[in-house]
Amino acid sequence: MDTASNIRPSLLITIDTESDDLWAGRPELTFENIRHIPRLQKLFDNYGVRPTYLVSYPVATSEIGGHVLKPIVRDGNAEIGSHMHVWTTPPLVPVTPEDHRYCPLATEIPYELLAEKMANITRVVGELSGKRPVSHRAGRFGFDHIGLRVLQELSYLADTSVTPLMTWVEPSYTGGQRGTDFRSAPFEPYYPSEGGVTRRGSGPLIEVPVSSFLTRPLPNRIANRLARLPRNNNFVRALRWTGFVRHGWLSPGRQTNGRRLVGIARALIALGVPTLNVMFHSSEMAPKTSPSTRTEADVEDSYQQLRVLFEYLVHKVKVRPLTLSEFAASYQRTLTAPHRSL
Ligand SMILES: [Zn+2]
Repeated sequence: MDTASNIRPSLLITIDTESDDLWAGRPELTFENIRHIPRLQKLFDNYGVRPTYLVSYPVATSEIGGHVLKPIVRDGNAEIGSHMHVWTTPPLVPVTPEDHRYCPLATEIPYELLAEKMANITRVVGELSGKRPVSHRAGRFGFDHIGLRVLQELSYLADTSVTPLMTWVEPSYTGGQRGTDFRSAPFEPYYPSEGGVTRRGSGPLIEVPVSSFLTRPLPNRIANRLARLPRNNNFVRALRWTGFVRHGWLSPGRQTNGRRLVGIARALIALGVPTLNVMFHSSEMAPKTSPSTRTEADVEDSYQQLRVLFEYLVHKVKVRPLTLSEFAASYQRTLTAPHRSL
């Protein structure tokens, strides 16, 4: 048995808990998908998995949000964090005439406005859960060193906005570019640098990257070699371009299946990554509220994918299920344990 397979990884489920189908760019917000969260929580409870619901401002202040999420908080098997969309979090200062279509990123607004928006969402999410949130994911992964600074000023402990292997750089409304390039980010949790969030630093906030990898199961030897390459290495990109391997999220949906999710999880475990961070949107587990769940059958398929993944991870690998802040606390303890102090 090699050393990597002796590591017992942690399993995190981080869910953007937001309005229906934000991909559609509609001006009005609806919350039908939130009604389906109790079914999802039941699945998690069956496997002893402890999700983190990262809640948007409109959901936190909606009647259905409180109705659904408060009992889940009371049961104590989940954590509530924040998920900040610039265009729906007050103060609402339009960036473009059609922000619901353009979906401005936190990296596109001034520090002062971002700080105000983050303070507002932190307050309403705290009112919802009865506890100040300490975990966060940026809307559309719009996260940079200024976002990091604001989170640390608000005493957040964990962020999960970084997506290794991926870049979100695209044209912006100014004619320039927007979005963060995360291709060189580590797969494993790290303390991001205040000089650039894809680099390691020594701040108090831990970054737990979203889990994704290449979809073709690779022999451990090759997977390990790939892991040692700089993450922006052209070889990895070339593998993707040739179609030999594709990039895959550790997330359920129409483009994947349970076997493929298990393959991605196995590859990450083989690389020695100590956390599996399954990310999706609340709207992706309800019918007709996301592009990946157009029908009831799509929803059932996504549920089945999660069952296959949990059967493997919980029963076979025997992962440690943790919420995001529970992971942050346990990671801190590992680092400060006396035998690791050198
Ligand atoms: Zn979102």
